[in-house]
Amino acid sequence: MPTIVDSKPSPEFTPISLAGVYNRNGASFCGDELADETLAGKELSLTGENVIRGIPFHLGDAAENNILFLKNDAVTFDFDAPITCCYFVFIHTAVAKRDVPDGDGITRPPRGRIILGDKVADYQLIYEDGSEQSVAIRRRFAIGELHKDWGDECFEAVPLTKSSAIPTISERMSAGEPPDALFGRSQTRVSVESSPVPVGYWVYALENRKPNEVIKSIRFVPAEESALLILGLTATNLGGNPLRWGRRQKALLTLPEGVSIGHPDASGRYAGLGIDLGQIISVTPRLDYDNAHWKDGYNNKAPVRVENQFIVEYCAHPAARFTVASKDKLSFAVSDCEKINISTETSSLEPINPAEQDVIIKIIEAKSKKKVAVKLHIHGEAGEYLPPADRHRIPNPYWFEDYSPDYPANGIHLCTYIDGETRVKLPLGNVYIEVSKGFEIKPIREVYNITPETTEIVIEIEHVLPWREKGWVSADTHVHFLSPQTALLEGAGEGVNVVNLLASQWGELFTNVGDFDGCTTFGSKEAGGDGEYLVRVGTENRQHVLGHISLCGYNGRIITPLTTGGPDESALGDAVEVTLSQWAKQCKEQGGVVVLPHFPNPRCENAAAIVLNHIDAVEMTSWGNLYDGIDPYSLSDWYRYLNCGYFVAAVGGTDKMSATTAVGTVRTYALIEDGEFTYDAWKEAVRAGRTFATYGPLMEFSVEGHPMGSRIELPASGGTLNAEWQLATVTVPISKVELVVNGETREVFSVTPDKREVQGSFSVQVNRSSWLALRVRGGYADKHEMIAAHSSPIVVRVDESEFFAAADAMTILEQIEGAIAFIDTVATRAEAKAYKTVKMTLTAAHRGLHNRMHNMGVFHEHSPMDEHEHPHHKH
Ligand SMILES: [Zn+2]
Ligand SMILES: [Zn+2]
Repeated sequence: MPTIVDSKPSPEFTPISLAGVYNRNGASFCGDELADETLAGKELSLTGENVIRGIPFHLGDAAENNILFLKNDAVTFDFDAPITCCYFVFIHTAVAKRDVPDGDGITRPPRGRIILGDKVADYQLIYEDGSEQSVAIRRRFAIGELHKDWGDECFEAVPLTKSSAIPTISERMSAGEPPDALFGRSQTRVSVESSPVPVGYWVYALENRKPNEVIKSIRFVPAEESALLILGLTATNLGGNPLRWGRRQKALLTLPEGVSIGHPDASGRYAGLGIDLGQIISVTPRLDYDNAHWKDGYNNKAPVRVENQFIVEYCAHPAARFTVASKDKLSFAVSDCEKINISTETSSLEPINPAEQDVIIKIIEAKSKKKVAVKLHIHGEAGEYLPPADRHRIPNPYWFEDYSPDYPANGIHLCTYIDGETRVKLPLGNVYIEVSKGFEIKPIREVYNITPETTEIVIEIEHVLPWREKGWVSADTHVHFLSPQTALLEGAGEGVNVVNLLASQWGELFTNVGDFDGCTTFGSKEAGGDGEYLVRVGTENRQHVLGHISLCGYNGRIITPLTTGGPDESALGDAVEVTLSQWAKQCKEQGGVVVLPHFPNPRCENAAAIVLNHIDAVEMTSWGNLYDGIDPYSLSDWYRYLNCGYFVAAVGGTDKMSATTAVGTVRTYALIEDGEFTYDAWKEAVRAGRTFATYGPLMEFSVEGHPMGSRIELPASGGTLNAEWQLATVTVPISKVELVVNGETREVFSVTPDKREVQGSFSVQVNRSSWLALRVRGGYADKHEMIAAHSSPIVVRVDESEFFAAADAMTILEQIEGAIAFIDTVATRAEAKAYKTVKMTLTAAHRGLHNRMHNMGVFHEHSPMDEHEHPHHKH
């Protein structure tokens, strides 16, 4: 039979059996009586021992009368033993009653669908001294109806089932549990527990005005033309309304080794942790930030998860009790939450200062005294995250599930982006604040003591590395899913001047396509911004075998198809109707910049696109990883094109697809040579290769005074060149500076990690055509060394010496052959004309490189597709 047990029963209540006055069985109603034919014969009663919102009720027997149906006649209930109490709590509901509209459909006067204030009954407390307290039970106040519509909540009563905090679908699934809510709903993390009966009951606490007087009976007097169902009654001596829960609070839970509270079920309940008159909001691992050394830590440094300690968030009546698993998993410690400090020999629950002090936080740039956008993190003494009032308390780390301006670094260090001012509720005592804004501003870690007088905290940040002043701007070439405005905020917060937001297709999912208009640069002066931070929507066009290509900042119509050739990038049945090379060519015709993203994977046709001179830059990609640096695999692949004379710049882009990747984790620095910084000027700088990619260290690098991206001509005799460099960092410490010549490490200069600025020069003998680049290694003290930055090359052309490396050329040719083989065999074939163009494009690239190889006299094996005679060199 239907029952509800939503927690252990609170001991503060005395359940009272109404068996003596029940006059109907829950399944005995006809439709007429309930003004609802669909309810005829349905089981409407809860039976037996119930715990509803933590309150115990002793309800009727299933086989007997178990509902008091109140209509026409008054009913008097006599207590077995006279009692005193502060509140009686009723479970009841009213049969619907409706006003009839006039002929024109308008109701006069309009008292509401559920007639607001309409009296359905009087509940009369009869005291031993003969006095009475009569309380009118009115619709929408103390009682609601059998069916509730949206907007028909009661003012003094609450629904039968309690609100709960639920896990998201992805959290459920990653815990091995089946999903239990729809995607969007589960993101709200709140729900109302489902009811086992098909009608709505209302729980109402009637205040006894004479709590010290003995009561002997209650008389239920129905109003005319009204009917109601009374299910249960319980009494309590609690002083405050037992249905009112308090504000959110936090407590620190410590469990003994080997004891777990388990995963939340679909209703958000834990096997090892419960509360009666309230609800658990969240349980998250406690994070140890080593608060005593907070200021010594670096930006985004991850805290340590503490074993078996959790931050429990809850809201509850002051008299609520927790049940907590302890060493013997069957026994539970119990704590009254007003004096929450409990500890058994094995488990403990201690209060954390509530975050209730309203504080405005302002971030000011020291020189301009202007408010500026930043990345912000705040935590309290227990390591609890303290987000602004309008930011996620629990950011969602999963793919495509969170496009809010929040950033959980390393999945656990929770941060958000603000525009320079925000409002946050803080606890009294110490709070620990981290503020950062990219690679040129010194990140701050500070401790603030919050007192009842604290209303505002102003934090100054300082622009200490003058790269922007020198004409450099930073960019992320690859961001997904954010709205343009959120991308603008996150870009500004990370000090990224240009965010390329890329629309794309993922199977049958199309993202950011509505944000693409082929002309607007968000944040530009033309678009009403200050022109310092820009967002431009481009596209990432993708093929799972041939490769991906980022088409940045082109004008005019969107370049489609966005993906080809079926899963896992495209939709089933999409033909390979276009190549990367064709996409790139069209982008250039429309004025865009072409980047090979997350270079070199997928590793195939990008070879053809580079050989055909369609590519401006290759992208070093970080995703959410802050510490692995530029992948040597990406560099190896890139170097061979440079070795063969195919010049492409290096850029940095994150491929952000979830909250756990920060915009600009790896970024592009591009030098705007003369004139104003605009999106067009940025494109020009990338095309010219005046760029470096970095995780933090900033650089200047020149050969004979010519900056990155330059071409220098030398006579056939070659010469000695001076390569000058200057490095600075306020984030990742630098450990080594390396000069790379034609892919080989020619010079190494070691740097002590405390050095924030360092400069030097190398003298380089150049005898043949060569490319020179600067590679910078570094890393935080507790992380391994990484390739932290890499310049675009400076190209030195020595007369009569062609750029060519036979072994590299061979690998490039093989990749093009792979693309042709794919098109010829398993690729979903486009209609004849498109297929022919695809084939011709790839063949042209193949022929171009192949002819070069022949001209250079390079021996190579031919693939069957390209058998031919080689009269001019020996086989
Ligand atoms: Zn991609
Ligand atoms: Zn992407």
